[in-house]
Amino acid sequence: MQEEIFGPILPLVTVRNLDEAIEFINRREKPLALYAYSNNVESAFESDMSEIILCQNEVDLALKNLQTWMKDESVSTNFLTKFSSAFIRKEPFGLVLIIAPWNYPLNLMIMPLVGAIAAGNCVVLKPSEMSKNTEKVLAELLPQYLDQSCFAVVLGGPEETGQLLKHKFDYIFFTGSPRVGKIVMAAAAKHLTPITLELGGKNPCYVDDNCDPQTVANRVAWFRYFNAGQTCVAPDYVLCSQEMQERLVPALQNAITRFYGDNPQTSPNLGRIINQKHFERLQGLLGCGRVAIGGQSDEGERYIAPTVLVDVQETEPVMQEEIFGPILPLVTVRSLDEAVNFINQREKPLALYAFSNNGQVVTQMLECTSSGSFGGNDGFLYLTLPALPLGGVGNSGMGRYHGKFSFDTFSHQRACLLSSPGMEKLNDLRYPPYGTWDQQL
Ligand code: NAD
Repeated sequence: MQEEIFGPILPLVTVRNLDEAIEFINRREKPLALYAYSNNVESAFESDMSEIILCQNEVDLALKNLQTWMKDESVSTNFLTKFSSAFIRKEPFGLVLIIAPWNYPLNLMIMPLVGAIAAGNCVVLKPSEMSKNTEKVLAELLPQYLDQSCFAVVLGGPEETGQLLKHKFDYIFFTGSPRVGKIVMAAAAKHLTPITLELGGKNPCYVDDNCDPQTVANRVAWFRYFNAGQTCVAPDYVLCSQEMQERLVPALQNAITRFYGDNPQTSPNLGRIINQKHFERLQGLLGCGRVAIGGQSDEGERYIAPTVLVDVQETEPVMQEEIFGPILPLVTVRSLDEAVNFINQREKPLALYAFSNNGQVVTQMLECTSSGSFGGNDGFLYLTLPALPLGGVGNSGMGRYHGKFSFDTFSHQRACLLSSPGMEKLNDLRYPPYGTWDQQL
């Protein structure tokens, strides 16, 4: 594993499994995208973009950089350790459990898996029971690619996951809701297992008066209605002045018509709601405030129209729970300060967005708030940059991943100090009796 002069030798098992992971993603017989798409949630383009391309890039990046990432990191020494070698060794934790949600079921399983493989771990994967097709693909096909003695897929819902969590793992990586995150964390605590929690919440989006409403509407509508709003980092609600709301509503209507046509139900670009339970939950939220755009639904297709709500009260359910669907409430505030207070009175979000032509407004929002990630004048494109970590803060989670952050997350950083067995005379300084030092006190 270790070669001082030429750098670490890549462990063949790790490279082979990463190669196999890319083979799996690029399956020749039937593109994996088709399986993911057949969950019937996303548009084919959105599925390809979010589920396949990002995963391909992640494996490529890991293969290109593994040698550098694995290298021992030398650190400087002090006068007590002057003749020693001090370094951080990256070691696998051992057995990792990855639990994924249903909304990007391939991406949210494969992206952490790549990091766990790169760091040299064995992995148990628990996909969501709600994204049936992806669950099936992972269970049937992944073992054909990855080393079966190191990787296993376990299927099931809350009951089975609860059983799984009774076992001792060396690391748990969970993506899902804050509610289940607490259950997973409590189970991990029983074995003192380190954990990453990638959770959700309500992501605010502040729109300043000094903005072009159409530009903002295009960007916000794309990110809100992508995957039918079932995206953890989607803007959950807009905070803006009454005047901006009046300009934003027609601009949002323009954007929705441009993206999905006059009847969005017939658009191949708009996804559907994952299941009946979530459809009913979202239908309930349509009763909040006043519908300014959309509001239609069709139970047979689990279709909810891209919707904008206005005159929403803070106490209404749509402002109390994560929406996770194609509904966008606009909440009016009188100033930037009021928007900042509104945000800071709530749980720290996974993502926060601010739109303004005035850079100072964006900077002020960035400096006066806290969130897992921040987007100025755009949505969640930062997800496409592996040099930026993805992770929450407070109620939206702990830990981070993507790119090298994933490798680091799944590596134990072992502190190493290698000293010479000789030169013992120099150590006399540190052994008792300590001479005059103690006598002075
Ligand atoms: P969820 O928390 O209901 O389920 C996630 C996983 O936990 C699933 O595999 C499920 O089988 C399992 N699970 C459910 N109940 C359980 C229980 N009682 N005990 C043990 N395991 C249990 O989440 P979901 O509905 O699949 O996904 C939506 C949530 O995930 C949203 O809150 C969203 O914001 C969040 N999310 C976060 C990110 C992120 O990167 N931070 C990404 C996607 C989704």
